[in-house]
Amino acid sequence: MVKVKIGTEYYDLSQFPDECSHCHHAVKAEVISTTMNATQNIIDMVFACPRHTCKRVSVAVFKREMINAIEKGKGFQLKFLHPRNPVDPVFSEHVAEVSPQYVEIFTQASKAEAFGLEEIAGVGYRKALEFLVKDYCITKNPEKEEEIKAKMLGAVIDTHVDNHNIKQCAKRAAWLGNDETHYVRKWIEKDINDLKGVIRLVVGWIEQEVQTEILLKEMQ
Ligand SMILES: [Zn+2]
Repeated sequence: MVKVKIGTEYYDLSQFPDECSHCHHAVKAEVISTTMNATQNIIDMVFACPRHTCKRVSVAVFKREMINAIEKGKGFQLKFLHPRNPVDPVFSEHVAEVSPQYVEIFTQASKAEAFGLEEIAGVGYRKALEFLVKDYCITKNPEKEEEIKAKMLGAVIDTHVDNHNIKQCAKRAAWLGNDETHYVRKWIEKDINDLKGVIRLVVGWIEQEVQTEILLKEMQ
């Protein structure tokens, strides 16, 4: 927690903004002004990027969840930066080759997440996972393309994924992904960040497998 003075009052903020929303560098924000909307429990902090090549101005938006009128909650949490200017995620060429659709859908989901649309983002990550796993399986078994496309994701993982690590991680990713699309959550203590984390593992294992295959082909 850090304190900020607005008028004569001090307020607790979860942190100072530490990233410029234009150049995305980590910065020590030069605070220009801070204002509070007491009705909506929002603090806007206008700050400039100190980098000579940037110097742009951003707004950090903080919100306070109220417990009640007397106990005013745990202070203000940094919610997002204006302008919202998400960085596109980076993909390895191997993964992009296995599943161009995964790259496209994952990128869209991460944009939705950056715009605060977490529900949509979760569904998007689940869809990205499905394309990744199915395209990976089709790459390994091109003759079974139609069968793989038509099957449910869980069945594809069970039947067509041989690599132990990919299989086990993809299964967990599918479980978490289904939570994003179903009405009732099964894994209540897990969230969208856990889903992204497991998808990253699946991608990592696929990447390792592809790279290993390339090496073994080159050096027989
Ligand atoms: Zn900057």
